[in-house]
Amino acid sequence: MMKAAPKKKRPASKMTNGMAHPPFQEFQVKTLDELVTELEKSKPAGSLVEVTPIEEMHHTSCMQEMSTVVVHGDETGLLQRPDELVAVYQYCAACKSAVRIL
Ligand SMILES: [Zn+2]
Repeated sequence: MMKAAPKKKRPASKMTNGMAHPPFQEFQVKTLDELVTELEKSKPAGSLVEVTPIEEMHHTSCMQEMSTVVVHGDETGLLQRPDELVAVYQYCAACKSAVRIL
């Protein structure tokens, strides 16, 4: 079945810093999985996307607990060492809102 879903504006795939979102800007994402999928697609080469449970992180707008997604260097060390963070996102399932905090 053909469906003409309205396409959201997306930044060009080639980005100077490799990441899709500027820090501290909230954006709407339907699910945590979708955020992870999007990050998997936009992450720079040599990095890994990982969902990390961090307790006591609450969304300031609704006080619900947030999930944390980190992007860090992989074992190739191409971009960063595995213990160095490339970006950190938090996702609020209640608001369907994600924010990049690093
Ligand atoms: Zn929220």
